[in-house]
Amino acid sequence: MTGLIDTHAHLDEMEDLAAAVGKAGLAGVAGIIAVGQDLNSNTRNLEMSASYPGYVYPALGLHPWAISRLDEAQLEQNIGFISDNLHRAIALGEVGLDYDKRVLKTAGRDIQKEVLRRLLALALRHDKPVSLHSRYAWKDALQEVINAGITKLVFHWYTGFSSTLTELIEAGYYISATPAAEYHDEHRRAIREVPLDRLLLETDCPVYYGREQRYRSQPSDVVRSLQATAAIKGIPEEEAATFTTANACRLFGLPVNP
Ligand SMILES: [Zn+2]
Repeated sequence: MTGLIDTHAHLDEMEDLAAAVGKAGLAGVAGIIAVGQDLNSNTRNLEMSASYPGYVYPALGLHPWAISRLDEAQLEQNIGFISDNLHRAIALGEVGLDYDKRVLKTAGRDIQKEVLRRLLALALRHDKPVSLHSRYAWKDALQEVINAGITKLVFHWYTGFSSTLTELIEAGYYISATPAAEYHDEHRRAIREVPLDRLLLETDCPVYYGREQRYRSQPSDVVRSLQATAAIKGIPEEEAATFTTANACRLFGLPVNP
């Protein structure tokens, strides 16, 4: 079967990186995009990708959840690091907006948007695709990335409105499926509605998934994203693998058939 790409993994949070990468290889994972959320994880991502060349691809980002932890000098340091090192990364991410009440309490919409605009400008300058977080902020996030002139982007783990999904597809963007595709209604609807040529796979590991039985995910669980996606689309797993890997290679500029 075509090798799978985990297009959104927090590899710096793996308890045992070597074991996780080894297990992913055995499960048929052909590549992992390691997204970053702050200075520490961005630094780690660059190191890890050097240990697994052609397998772990680093992305550099600043997560909306991280903003409230930073004072002004640290914020500048974080953005400066991305600006200085984005040429070494495959993508900008994880960046975005999060309108969950608990997040808004510590980092309001205005500061989130301001940070996102500065980061998107860096993606444009370096001609890098973007891995976007958009929880409860789907419409604003779409408006921001369109206004910024971004053309290569994935709304990761999309669970938003069907109307916004239609608009983001028209704008040329992608969405990605996580293992929550096994049970989460809004996520399943988005996967059902998105055209096959705009769908990627991911894990967002080490996120915990499962309704009855909770488990801490790792990149090998992208197989679960694939199986759930194939079932939702009513196509063989091989076909879903071929499409999603080709899409990932196209969006992130990976070698074809990695
Ligand atoms: Zn993430």
